Amino acid sequence: TRDITVDAASTEHAETIVQAVKALPDIQLLSVYDRTFNLHRGGKIGIVSRIPIKSVSDLAMAYTPGVGRICTAIAQDPEEVYNLTIKQNTVAIVTDGSAVLGLGNLGPSAALPVMEGKAMLFKEFAGLDAFPICLDTQDTDEIVRTVKNLAPVFGGVNLEDIAAPRCFEIEKRLRAELNIPVFHDDQHGTAIVTLAALFNALKLVHKTIAEIRIVINGAGAAGVAIARLLRKAGAEKIWICDSKGIISTSRTDLTPEKQEFAVKAQGTLGGAMQGADVFIGVSAPGVLTVEMVQGMAKDPIVFAMANPIPEIQPELVSKIVAVMATGRSDYPNQINNVLAFPGVFRGALDCRAQTITTTMYLEAANAIASLVKPSDLNREHIIPSVFDKRVAPAVAAAVQQAARQEGIAKS
Ligand code: NAP
Ligand code: MG
Repeated sequence: TRDITVDAASTEHAETIVQAVKALPDIQLLSVYDRTFNLHRGGKIGIVSRIPIKSVSDLAMAYTPGVGRICTAIAQDPEEVYNLTIKQNTVAIVTDGSAVLGLGNLGPSAALPVMEGKAMLFKEFAGLDAFPICLDTQDTDEIVRTVKNLAPVFGGVNLEDIAAPRCFEIEKRLRAELNIPVFHDDQHGTAIVTLAALFNALKLVHKTIAEIRIVINGAGAAGVAIARLLRKAGAEKIWICDSKGIISTSRTDLTPEKQEFAVKAQGTLGGAMQGADVFIGVSAPGVLTVEMVQGMAKDPIVFAMANPIPEIQPELVSKIVAVMATGRSDYPNQINNVLAFPGVFRGALDCRAQTITTTMYLEAANAIASLVKPSDLNREHIIPSVFDKRVAPAVAAAVQQAARQEGIAKS
């Protein structure tokens, strides 16, 4: 018997290969396994002790009776929890499983592999211990109450894969009620990396953020957060479209978040794209057409970030656009949140920021953009690679500096 490893492009492709092997004469297929499933068996993370327990004395210090004196010290001075426990280096990754990746409302158990993976990224890129918290409720009040009750253990809270518009209220309330950083990555992680990419793309086409007209397609968690951050960065002309077209003041179906960006113009995405300088898609596969891109202003910038299938296939417009980016790793210019969240939390926890502010997002975006040197900047390289080890420390430093300037750092 022999083990053979095959790289298949998709599950369908894998199935074709298996059938083809089965059909071969003189070969008996004994078993088939999927490397991705194998990798997940037993879960992807575990807890390790930082101190060995080898003697009675070790035990008496790490656990009772020694630990009792530590408890008393923290009870007397609650701030000591930051020095004497895991809190300072620990992040809660909280989800209700309502918007898992692009897969939809799969619930808390099905969300767990994603949150484990996210914990791995926190560890790998920022040395942080993050723990998956998948909640068996999708009720806003209950989520807020539960996270507040869990907060004593954690230095920060990363909200993840919670559907819009509920995610906006949950984040707002937790920010108001907790004195540790709360950050919804699907909103702000995306916004930071998108802005970093836009800063560099604009350098290539010699346009400024204040003069361009930007169309954002998608007004969910990502679209609203991107629009807010772009506005903070100086963008003056932002039109957002949702599944019903341009978010216009004439519409009566708008959520408060959508109302923030309502414009006089009305109509469809096609109309909005006429003369636009930048398209940012955080919506659905294949909704942008070649004709719409042809109608854009000179040197169009297109970020088609719907995952896994972008708003337009890059090949279709590679000759018309000045710069193209997607959320995918198999095309140039991958806009990936992992460039932002590890450094954001590293920076915020290291200076014990009481909260995370828009200025911190802005500085994080600047830090990411500046890692692409002018001599390396080109249409296929507007953003650092996700494996660039300089990114998280640079983001952490920028976030810390912003926190100190804003007077919200406690150490
Ligand atoms: P979300 O909260 O569910 O929001 C989706 C938004 O897209 C909604 O506003 C929805 O409109 C709109 N939409 C759906 N179909 C549309 C269409 N045909 N035309 C225009 N708008 C349409 O989701 P999200 O978290 O913001 O994510 C949206 C997409 O962006 C997903 O594909 C996600 O994978 C991708 N994304 C990528 C990255 C990345 O690459 N780094 C990061 C974040 C998100 P209604 O409001 O009318 O329902
Ligand atoms: Mg997510």
